[in-house]
Amino acid sequence: MTEGRIATLIDALPVPVLLIGPDDRVRAVNAPVSAILGHDLTGNHYITALRQPAVIAAIAKARRDQTGGTARFTGRDGPRDTLYRVVVAPAGDDLVLTFEDQTAAETAGQMRRDFVANVSHELRTPLTALLGFIETLGGAARDDAQARDRFLEIMAHEANRMTRLVDDLLSLSRVEEDERVRPRERVDLTSVLSSVIKGLEPQAQDAGVTVTLQNEGMDDTIPGDSGQLLQVFTNLVENGIKYGREGGKVTVTILPRQMHRRLRGEAIAVVVADDGEGIAAHHIARLTERFYRVDNHRSRQVGGTGLGLAIVKHIINRHRGRLLIESTVGEGTKISVFLPVSAPS
Ligand code: ADP
Repeated sequence: MTEGRIATLIDALPVPVLLIGPDDRVRAVNAPVSAILGHDLTGNHYITALRQPAVIAAIAKARRDQTGGTARFTGRDGPRDTLYRVVVAPAGDDLVLTFEDQTAAETAGQMRRDFVANVSHELRTPLTALLGFIETLGGAARDDAQARDRFLEIMAHEANRMTRLVDDLLSLSRVEEDERVRPRERVDLTSVLSSVIKGLEPQAQDAGVTVTLQNEGMDDTIPGDSGQLLQVFTNLVENGIKYGREGGKVTVTILPRQMHRRLRGEAIAVVVADDGEGIAAHHIARLTERFYRVDNHRSRQVGGTGLGLAIVKHIINRHRGRLLIESTVGEGTKISVFLPVSAPS
C-alpha cells in the first residue's frame, strides 16, 4: 500500500492511530494522534516521537515477540493530563498503535472511590458515638438513671441519623436508576405541594416557621412522577425550614406557565423562598454535589445528610427541568424549579 493510501485510510478513522514502519520510524499518523502528540511526527524514530518509557517498552516487546500489548500514555496536550490506553498490535512488518481515552473511566472510578469514602465517613461518626455510649451504659453509667436517659436520647438521635442517611442513599440510587425513563403521569402541582406542606407541618411548628402556598397560575398540571416531585419539594421546603430564620417564613409559589428559552418550551416554575441566613455565592454552584454542605456542623445539627439537593437535581433532570438557586446572605434563599408542561420527547 502506498504511503498516500495509508495516510488516507488512517485519517478516515475516528480513533487516534499511529503506524510504525519496519525501520522503527513513524510511518503515518492521523489527525487525532497529531493533536495528542502536539505535531505530526512522521519520519521520527518512535523513541523520540513517543518519549514515554511504558509505551516504548510495549513497542519494543511487540516488535521482539510479534505479539500485541498495551501501555498507559499520559497526553499533556490540554489544560489537564489525558490518560490513554495505547494498544500496540503487529500488522505485517508494521506496528499499529491506537490510543483509547481513559479519562472518563478514570474520573468515574475516582468519583466512586470518593463516594464510598464519604459514605463510610458519614456512617462512622454516628457509629462511633453509639459504640461509645453503649460502652458507657454498660460500665460507668450503668446505675445512673439520669445519665442513661440522656444517653439513650442521644443514641436514638444518632441511629435516626444513620437511618436517614441510608434512606437518602437508597433514594439517590433509585433516582439515578430511572433517570433515563421519562415520567408520563399527569401531576397536579397544587395537590403535591399541599401534601408536602401538610407533611412538614410538625417540623415547621417546632421551628416556628410559617409555610404558605400561593398559586399564581391557572393550569398547574404537568407530566411527572408525583412521588418524586413530592420528594423534590419536601427537600426544598424542609431546607427552607431548617436553614430559615426561627419564626420566619417559607413561601411556595406556583408561577403561571411561561416560555423557557433553555428548555425550548413552556414551563411552570415553583419557587421556594425563605428569609433565612442565605448562602454565600461561592457555595451555590456546588450545593447539588453529594455531601456538599455550607456548614457541616449546622447541617448535622438539623438532621441533614448532605444528599437532599443531589436527589433534587437528579429528579429534575429526569423531568427535563431546571433548578435555579439564588441567595443573598442575611436576606434569604430562593430556589426555583422549572418543569416543562408538555411531555418531553
Ligand atoms: P442537608 O441534608 O445538609 O440539608 P442538602 O443537599 O439538602 O443537604 O443541602 C446542602 C447544603 O446546602 C446544606 O447543608 C446547607 O448548607 C445548604 N442549604 C440548602 N438549602 C438551604 C437554604 N434554604 N438556606 C441556606 N442554606 C441552605
